[in-house]
Amino acid sequence: MFLPPPWKIKMVEPIRLLSEDERGQAMKAAGFNTFLLDSKDVYIDLLTDSGTSAMSDYQWAGIMLGDEAYAGSRNFYNLTEAVKDVYGMPLLVPTHQGRGAEHLVSRVLVKPGQYVASNMYFTTSRVHVEETGGIWKDVIVEEAHDPQSEFPFKGNIDTEKLSRFIQEKGKDAIAFLRIEANCNMAGGQPFSMENVKAVFSLAKEHGIHVVMDATRALENAYFIKIRDSAFKNTPIRDILKEMMKYVDTIIVSSKKDNLVNIGGFLATRDNRLFEETRNLVVTYEGLHTYGGMSGRDMEALARGIREMVSDDRHAEHRVRQVERFGMLLHAAGVPIVVPIGGHAVYLDAKRFLPHIPQNQYPAQALTAAIYEKTGVRSMERGIVSAGRDPKTGEEHKPNLELVRLTIPRRVYTDDHLAFAANGIIELFKKKDDIAGLRMVYEPTQLRFFQARFEPLA
Ligand SMILES: *Cc1c(COP(=O)(O)O)cnc(C)c1O
Repeated sequence: MFLPPPWKIKMVEPIRLLSEDERGQAMKAAGFNTFLLDSKDVYIDLLTDSGTSAMSDYQWAGIMLGDEAYAGSRNFYNLTEAVKDVYGMPLLVPTHQGRGAEHLVSRVLVKPGQYVASNMYFTTSRVHVEETGGIWKDVIVEEAHDPQSEFPFKGNIDTEKLSRFIQEKGKDAIAFLRIEANCNMAGGQPFSMENVKAVFSLAKEHGIHVVMDATRALENAYFIKIRDSAFKNTPIRDILKEMMKYVDTIIVSSKKDNLVNIGGFLATRDNRLFEETRNLVVTYEGLHTYGGMSGRDMEALARGIREMVSDDRHAEHRVRQVERFGMLLHAAGVPIVVPIGGHAVYLDAKRFLPHIPQNQYPAQALTAAIYEKTGVRSMERGIVSAGRDPKTGEEHKPNLELVRLTIPRRVYTDDHLAFAANGIIELFKKKDDIAGLRMVYEPTQLRFFQARFEPLA
């Protein structure tokens, strides 16, 4: 059961735990929004797994081999080869990070009034579709909305719902289908190989383009290996490559699976999409051979892509470290989303704080309380993140009201995570002392990043 990491530590970065008083001050100054805390005031940073990975010595060595030519950098060709080898996608457009790729794909594929159907939205993915006049539609399986359902593939698209949706709207009203690997907003939950295959064949029947958000496709591939017996002896790199057979295009935030601190890309088999996004990239990101990244960034990324599939124990250790952390909380009765996700443990704020109604932002209040109690930084993934309907201005009221404790890759030891778990278990015993919040500043776009709150009690 115990699996030591497939790496050892070569360099360390000091961190400091402020006193409870100082943490209270810091949280107040940050408007009870963990995004507004200074990182120097955070002891264990579980805000996100985005861009927070530790790079390997091999990646750092690649940094020194950056070819900082404006055009045709050799690192771009290394990256192209890595994406082709690992993802099987021949045509690459680099971008500064994932949302750059989302922007380009939305601009090319979405016409005003058209729909994008997806297992479940991601914040930036939906914003870019809406910015180009599109309408988002979630068609995930019902189990995904139930934080206590043990269904092994809660990231699956409900093919019945999807099929009905296509019938109802007609194929021309659908800009593209999107399937997100290890679906973030559902709790880091995978889709099955059968599901992506079925979605692809349905899409092809109707001539609809399929885009995979492959940001966490590696972790999804690991879950397919352990949850689908047909793949139990298949190397993860082969599973990953097979998943890619059932989509036309992928968009990737390389700040996650790909083990770099910045970067992203889109890659496709579709010549028309390739040409059109490559035309747009020069307006919005940079020349088509760097797309917003430096040569050294592209080299570290090319190496990260190869490294993540070079040994199955990388993905296995990564996901099992997250699981181990989640099990500490679960065993102590703290309500979490099950099955435990690939990149994060999600607290179910509705059950953690049943006395706080959703319009008093229970998950947001819980992130603030966790920081004050433990020095651990987490993120709200509930009503604040869901934002407002752009037409009616009403708040979206998601079923899931979650706090995400996201584990950076290769950064924290199991001792750090045990410390975080103990603090949260202690807080759970005093949960009745936590009060709801009221929002005192609300930005119009992606409000969760910069909103400010005050406690109600
Ligand atoms: C992070 C993320 C994005 C956006 O990527 P950035 O690199 O943050 O711009 C898109 N999709 C998913 C699933 C993500 O997790």
